[in-house]
Amino acid sequence: MGNKMKAAQISKAGGEWELVEREVPEPTAGQVRVKVEACGICHSDVLVKDGIWPGLQYPRVPGHEIAGRIDAVGENVKAWSVGQRVGVGWHGGHCFVCELCRRGDFAMCINRKVTGFDFDGGYSEYMIAPASALAAIPAEVPAEEAGPFMCAGVTVYNALRNSGARGGDVVAVHGIGGLGHLGVQYARQMGFETVAINRGNDKQELAQQLGAHHYIDATATDVVTELQKFGGARVILATAPNAQAISSLVDGLSPGGTLVVPAAPPEPLMINALSLILRRTSVAGWYSGTAKDSQDTLEFSALSAVHPMIEKYPLESVAEAYEQMHSGRVRFRVVLTMQ
Ligand SMILES: [Zn+2]
Ligand SMILES: [Zn+2]
Repeated sequence: MGNKMKAAQISKAGGEWELVEREVPEPTAGQVRVKVEACGICHSDVLVKDGIWPGLQYPRVPGHEIAGRIDAVGENVKAWSVGQRVGVGWHGGHCFVCELCRRGDFAMCINRKVTGFDFDGGYSEYMIAPASALAAIPAEVPAEEAGPFMCAGVTVYNALRNSGARGGDVVAVHGIGGLGHLGVQYARQMGFETVAINRGNDKQELAQQLGAHHYIDATATDVVTELQKFGGARVILATAPNAQAISSLVDGLSPGGTLVVPAAPPEPLMINALSLILRRTSVAGWYSGTAKDSQDTLEFSALSAVHPMIEKYPLESVAEAYEQMHSGRVRFRVVLTMQ
């Protein structure tokens, strides 16, 4: 093709953002080329920028909250065609042959790839994705909203729908940020009695607008006592990256309840095993989802009017956009837009 494209790359661990011109890549068998329209900046992109993820190779173009349009299709791609609107998320494809894939558990594939980590992602005008990593975007979801659904959205949506909670159960979302503001909306739309927990009351009104039935200010009251007034939460989705705060939530569960942790705080959790035993509660991690899970997330969001709150920046402003996300000032997701 010989055409050029703009991309934002990191060329060494801890390196700065570099805006570069690259050859537009060609898809090989089983791949498509996506003309990127928007790409969210995720907190996990720090793992690429700072070189914390094992096995990273540089230079690397990060970005795993991609929304765009298929622009070229490689050989043996049957289900996708040029012009289709698609998202590419954290799940960057799987091998189809390992034991887990043979059982259909593609998210747990031992050879799974992460978009923007194992191959170049969406901080770029074009990117190459395996067909197994594509989610179709419904017509009513704009690209800049579809992007954040591909990691933040699918992570909390999939965590909640697999949590065991049923309609009417009390579900608490701890932390009203990038993940939590979506978690509150999904919890409400899935039919749970939804409790939002955050420090202070500056996000109380917003949490209620997003669908929370109840709000707990973690600085003014004891969260466990407040949750036990509802009989405890069947599920607590812990999205604030604070190990101490997360650890203390276990006693806010109802008997048999689950504390679900979809994002990693830097320090280890300190859980009193006796609290788990006496009320038969558990702590569980959650890992993202497949491309089909992402497509379910997009479709459910369109159906139930769930929207991410975003700030948009052009690709050229990647350094400023990244800093805005990293500082935690943004409400709540930063999205790079192309052109
Ligand atoms: Zn992410
Ligand atoms: Zn596999």
